Amino acid sequence: QAKKSGNGQYHFFSSAEFNGDMNPYTIEVELRKAIEQKQFTLHYQPRINLSTGELIGVEALIRWEHPKWGLISPASFIPIAEDSGLIVPIGNWVLEEACKQNKIWQVSGMSCVVSVNLSPKQFAHTNLASVIKNTLFNTGLDPHLLEIEITESMTADITRTVATLEEIKKLGIQVSIDDFGTGFSSLYYLKKFPVNTLKIDRSFVSELHNNPDEETIVKTIISMARNLNLNVVAEGIETKEQLAFLQQHLCHEGQGFLFSKPLPPSVLEEKFPTIQKSVKQFGLTKDYNE
Ligand code: C2E
Ligand code: MG
Ligand code: MG
Ligand code: MG
Repeated sequence: QAKKSGNGQYHFFSSAEFNGDMNPYTIEVELRKAIEQKQFTLHYQPRINLSTGELIGVEALIRWEHPKWGLISPASFIPIAEDSGLIVPIGNWVLEEACKQNKIWQVSGMSCVVSVNLSPKQFAHTNLASVIKNTLFNTGLDPHLLEIEITESMTADITRTVATLEEIKKLGIQVSIDDFGTGFSSLYYLKKFPVNTLKIDRSFVSELHNNPDEETIVKTIISMARNLNLNVVAEGIETKEQLAFLQQHLCHEGQGFLFSKPLPPSVLEEKFPTIQKSVKQFGLTKDYNE
């Protein structure tokens, strides 16, 4: 749990703050203002092809710039947004903003796929397929340049979720299962859900060299995904050793601080001048930590 934010530093709430100024109720009140006053922003984390070093996409991750509290991590407010239903307008904003930004990149010749995290509530409380369709129409983004990330906790109404996902896939949008391996009934969902990609949860990747069980789990997820013709992405790659292990076991793609933290668009553009063609600057023999 981080301390009060300085410049660009995250703010995670301590339990003391939850009892005082920042309790779930005031956070909800402030979230309503934040939607009106547009206090949210998106950072983008690169997703790298582990065999070529190519940047193939970015994941959009929300941040809240509160005028008094500073930059707030999604872990601190997404659960409250979900409980209060505010995740629906917030999620719609994220979708629109990510598509708008990616259209700008596409037009300037640096297009890549943008991934957007969706909450189960967005499936339950909106006609998600038509929301997405309208957003693509309004922003002019090519559906192939959008991916949605769902989690295994989408248990509410499986029949409806599957129908929605099928509609979404028909639009040409890619679907991935985020935090794979941490939810219930992984294999059940895998069989039911029409998805393209599995994202191996960071908790497994971070333990790769401490725990042989995690090695086995990661190897198993990769080979299962490959056998099912699914794309597989490792989240949270922080060390060269983790990268080497994942490459050795033929994991297709990866994200993590080793490559880059999530960045505001302007910084991302500086670091990856030609997003699509940035392969060489990411030559996998290079020292990422320099
Ligand atoms: P996620 O979708 O699994 O996103 C990956 C999280 O891992 C991000 O945290 C990212 O900054 C962090 N991460 C990436 N690489 C590394 C690494 O190498 N080491 C470490 N320690 N962390 C790494 P972030 O941005 O704080 O987001 C946390 C979670 O909040 C996300 O997990 C996602 O579930 C949720 N979230 C973020 N943005 C949105 C959004 O727009 N809508 C919804 N519904 N949820 C969101
Ligand atoms: Mg995600
Ligand atoms: Mg997620
Ligand atoms: Mg994840």
